Amino acid sequence: MSHLDPDTIALIALGESALPEDIEHVRGCLPCQGELDELTAVADSARAISSQDRPVAAPAQVWDRIESELATESRTIPAPVTPQVHRKSRAMFALAASVGILIGGLGTYAVVASDSADKTSTLVAQATLEPLRDVTEPAAASVQQIDGREVLYVQASGLPATDGFYEVWLLAPDSSNMISVGMLDASEGGKFPLPAGIDLATFPIVDISLEQFDGDVTHSADSILRGTLAV
Ligand SMILES: [Zn+2]
Repeated sequence: MSHLDPDTIALIALGESALPEDIEHVRGCLPCQGELDELTAVADSARAISSQDRPVAAPAQVWDRIESELATESRTIPAPVTPQVHRKSRAMFALAASVGILIGGLGTYAVVASDSADKTSTLVAQATLEPLRDVTEPAAASVQQIDGREVLYVQASGLPATDGFYEVWLLAPDSSNMISVGMLDASEGGKFPLPAGIDLATFPIVDISLEQFDGDVTHSADSILRGTLAV
């Protein structure tokens, strides 16, 4: 005699209709009866789950408490004063312009701003990099001497997205000689420490090329921007 399959026992446990011979089998079969008892217990406890056992929204007083705490916190944040400040600064601007102290103020600002920058940084040379193709905006390059070391800064925006990458080069005037100074992240610009002892008179041209991931480390001859450093 074969036992009932588990599905049939489960249906009986759930009170579903069952064949009379299956009911009879269960009554006379200890293993199947044991299994049915187990499943019936599970079914009963599942039915016993009431709405109180389900997750419910927090009671109203909990929300009240949360709201009052948030209200207390927001009271510690000062009320917006932007409109007043804005009006005041515009009034100050008008006043300053009318009595001619604005220029002096800006001069002070410039001194403070440059003073807060790296004190040992000296501008050595700079260049405007003119678009050769694909780009409309010129880029800027400068060489700063920082703690005795020359660093090339490149600021380029509006470079088109590419499957390859942009590389920064220093070229001899006739392009017969060149050195790669690094890859350029067009969105952030670049800072490239130059090799010690490099002679910018020998490599005065800053060139940004579009390179492909082709394993070829030489210049692609696909220049996007180029300019000559003015010392
Ligand atoms: Zn059985």
